Amino acid sequence: MNKGLIIIISGPSGVGKKTIIDQFINDPMLNLCYSISMTTRSPRIGETHGVDYYFVSEQEFYNSVKENKLLEWAEFAGNKYGTPIDAVYEKINQGKNVILEIEVVGAMNVMTRLEKNEYKSIFIAPPSIEELEARLKKRNTESDEKIKQRIKKATEELKTINNYDFVVLNDISSRAANEIRNIIKAQIR
Ligand code: 5GP
Repeated sequence: MNKGLIIIISGPSGVGKKTIIDQFINDPMLNLCYSISMTTRSPRIGETHGVDYYFVSEQEFYNSVKENKLLEWAEFAGNKYGTPIDAVYEKINQGKNVILEIEVVGAMNVMTRLEKNEYKSIFIAPPSIEELEARLKKRNTESDEKIKQRIKKATEELKTINNYDFVVLNDISSRAANEIRNIIKAQIR
């Protein structure tokens, strides 16, 4: 059986990564599963431990880093986020393709760490920074201060765009989801 492919999907916070991924994650043609990250961030209303994230303490996160249990990790807007490594390889070895929905520092780290034939990377770009700010405000999950932090960060993140195999513009979410669906279909083994 062929091993699955790791599909890194990155881009600024608020660009709509999750909304786009949700539109194709269950497509039976793609044989995908979603890597559930570990974070020290508090759950938002509607988020469930073990579904959206594993919500852990600073100490638990620190232990996971120390014990090499994370494929990558990064600090983002005051919280830590990381990809549990065992779950990824378990799925890959079963022939499943694994989606990593991660911010850009972590994405750079995985791309450095993995062999080129193990992954494909996709950057989702916002139509503009102004549009991104409007989306973050509309989402209403962060304070104004946090939104400011995330926007400042997004400007830096956009500079890394050339490191990805594919760049997809999120002008209309269903269109972007279709484009990514087609990219994945063409890349999986
Ligand atoms: P949020 O707090 O909005 O859920 O996530 C903040 C950022 O962290 C988003 O850009 C999200 O894609 C990213 N993120 C989620 N999980 C991980 C992870 O395991 N590793 C890294 N590096 N970033 C992650």
